[in-house]
Amino acid sequence: MAVFAVVGAGLAGMTLARKLEQAGHRCQVFEKSRGRGGRLATRRREGWQADHGAQYFTVRDPDFQREVDHWLALGWVAPWPVTPVVLTRDGVQPSPDEQIRYVGVPTMNAMVQGMSEGLDLFTKTRVDRLERVGSQWRLWDDQGEHYGQFDAVVLTAPLAQSLALLPPGSQLEVPLRSNAGMLPAWAMAVAFSEPTGIEADAAFVKEGVVNWLARDSSKPGRNKKPEVWVAHFTAQWSANHLDTSDSLLEQQCLAALRRLTEHDLPTVVDRFKHRWLYARSGSAETLSAPFDANLNIGLAGDWTQGDRMEGAWRSGNGLARTLIEHWAES
Ligand SMILES: Cc1cc2nc3c(=O)[nH]c(=O)nc-3n(C[C@H](O)[C@H](O)[C@H](O)COP(=O)(O)OP(=O)(O)OC[C@H]3O[C@@H](n4cnc5c(N)ncnc54)[C@H](O)[C@@H]3O)c2cc1C
Repeated sequence: MAVFAVVGAGLAGMTLARKLEQAGHRCQVFEKSRGRGGRLATRRREGWQADHGAQYFTVRDPDFQREVDHWLALGWVAPWPVTPVVLTRDGVQPSPDEQIRYVGVPTMNAMVQGMSEGLDLFTKTRVDRLERVGSQWRLWDDQGEHYGQFDAVVLTAPLAQSLALLPPGSQLEVPLRSNAGMLPAWAMAVAFSEPTGIEADAAFVKEGVVNWLARDSSKPGRNKKPEVWVAHFTAQWSANHLDTSDSLLEQQCLAALRRLTEHDLPTVVDRFKHRWLYARSGSAETLSAPFDANLNIGLAGDWTQGDRMEGAWRSGNGLARTLIEHWAES
């Protein structure tokens, strides 16, 4: 049995920790935020909620499909029967497809919450530094507290944050530095006083500063009232407006929504914004060998396997398999 430290309680970190524990190893998971899920995020407001990070996920890999079937059976996820339209300069274009889109129920991080049951999780703990102690690792947080010791450490934070923690001399550094950086995204959620009358439940927006619109209240397991919409902003606009105001974001969100309807929009009764500094890697590249067996450091996270939820799961699952095999041999 080995003892692992996992940095980050997103989908990648929790998948990995759960699989290692199932194989008889021990894990401690460290998460800088108050909650679990990372970019699978839902904010609760007075009488309403909205998913401001990942909007839905799709499945291509048969292994991931088996896992999703298990989540479906447990009621952690459900299909979202949505067919997004495409909004271009010429207006709304239908875009029917056969894609099954799933969401966490009742919040996007439901499967991460479920997987974390019984795991040793330290929230509000930002790992600041790794210290080598003999052949093991000790972790230090930003308050000067230390934890450990661990046989191996797995970093599952977004690329820039993992790079900052990677000890010098790691074989993983070069592929990491050559990987694409991660791009920011603003999200704005608005709750309306009345139904908007907009026909489509979601739109890929191909022109302007907003690139995605979704009626969050149309997702399964959410309250239908009030009607809630989420807008995501392009990486380029977000990067150029990192300190923008609520009112500018709301204005842009409503301007995009007006293009989906001929009617006036009802009053916005509440809203919130969220800035994702490390939203997506925008890269389909994969990191082929995410484990340094000399230092016993591993890397997982969506950016090592593309930039979607499926990649996050595959990275955690794949690295767990590598680690289980490695410790079976040693
Ligand atoms: C706006 C937006 C929209 C998206 N839409 C979709 C979509 O529609 N479909 C889709 O498939 N994917 C989407 N994604 C991507 C999806 O959210 C991610 O692929 C997935 O959630 C990544 O999981 P992860 O575990 O790799 O990383 P994360 O969820 O980022 O988890 C990493 C965790 O590490 C923690 N952490 C970081 N540094 C430290 C530290 N020093 N110490 C302790 N903890 C630390 C973070 O707080 C975080 O909880 C979207 C993402 C965003 C931001």
